[in-house]
Amino acid sequence: MTSANDRVKKLVRAEIRALGAYHVPVAGDLIKLDAMENPWPWPDSLRDAWLEELKAVELNRYPDPSAKALQVAMRSAMSVPDSASVILGNGSDELIQMIVQTVAAPGRSVLAPEPTFVMYRQIAAVAGLAFVSIPLQQDFSLDADAMLTAITRQQPAVTFLAYPNNPTGNLFDAEAINAILLAADGLVVVDEAYAPFTDASFMSQLQKNDNLLVLRTVSKMGLAGLRLGLLAGSREWLEQIDKTRLPYNLGTLNQVTGCFAVQHKQVFDEQARKICDARAGLLAGLQGMSSLAVYPSEANFILFRAPPGSADTIYRGLQQAGILVKNLHGSADALRDCLRVTVGLPEENKTFLAALEQQL
Ligand SMILES: *Cc1c(COP(=O)(O)O)cnc(C)c1O
Repeated sequence: MTSANDRVKKLVRAEIRALGAYHVPVAGDLIKLDAMENPWPWPDSLRDAWLEELKAVELNRYPDPSAKALQVAMRSAMSVPDSASVILGNGSDELIQMIVQTVAAPGRSVLAPEPTFVMYRQIAAVAGLAFVSIPLQQDFSLDADAMLTAITRQQPAVTFLAYPNNPTGNLFDAEAINAILLAADGLVVVDEAYAPFTDASFMSQLQKNDNLLVLRTVSKMGLAGLRLGLLAGSREWLEQIDKTRLPYNLGTLNQVTGCFAVQHKQVFDEQARKICDARAGLLAGLQGMSSLAVYPSEANFILFRAPPGSADTIYRGLQQAGILVKNLHGSADALRDCLRVTVGLPEENKTFLAALEQQL
């Protein structure tokens, strides 16, 4: 008799068997500074008005398959140029998956610098594409020459650039990205998940570059639980990518809530402004600890490097003090001894800084 293990080995591709599951630690009562969530709750009046709108939803009916009302609202909230097309996804993760599926074929590859957002590698592997990664420089800036060489040699079907980058927090040089756009025959996806916390964007470059796609999400601005992302690009590309979308990828609850939230975008803009202010304080506090190397950030988190060999102990010590951060030590050579902290509420940041100081 064949065991389940034997069958799995025979039928599941080696690249998929080799993947680790996406592991999310349980936060419990810990102060949650691990996942780039917006810590600010909704004002009560907003919550009540939202629940009132949900009352009218008819869940016996299928959702609008193309989420037209939400598309209009999201285009305006995210300053998408009129000439560009958009597709909405169940989080930007789903849009990354759709982009990769659209160009997936034997022998094709996906290119990205590393360290970066882990889903590019994961989704490429699941779709059966080779993943080519180019190490970032010591200061986490883009190695433009190595990227351009890889583009010439490998002709990647898609290049992913997180802008600002996760988990490093920095913006890559815009000139280097322009050079990549010029050199690439394939798609270049500029992933702007942290747009609420920076002024930099490639959204206005869409008209000039027909191989450019810009990704946005509402997750980091304060709606991580909603699952809603936006892809903007040329009509020709988006018409094809949209064919890989499952017809009802955004439920009616998502569509109605997304429209409601975007109508009250000034609430989230104000929260993002408070997060940027708190980021400056958190950065100064970390920089005041002389045994840390602290990396500048244009996002809602800060990466820092602890003294050699101490990251795991610091991570556990913070947990015992009631604080959850992200431990990146062991995930990649470039991130040795590194921890990443999300900007929280002012008092949470203070608690974190005091607890960290105790650990050093
Ligand atoms: C968090 C993050 C995303 C995921 O966004 P979702 O819309 O929540 O799927 C995408 N890209 C980068 C770079 C991120 O850090």
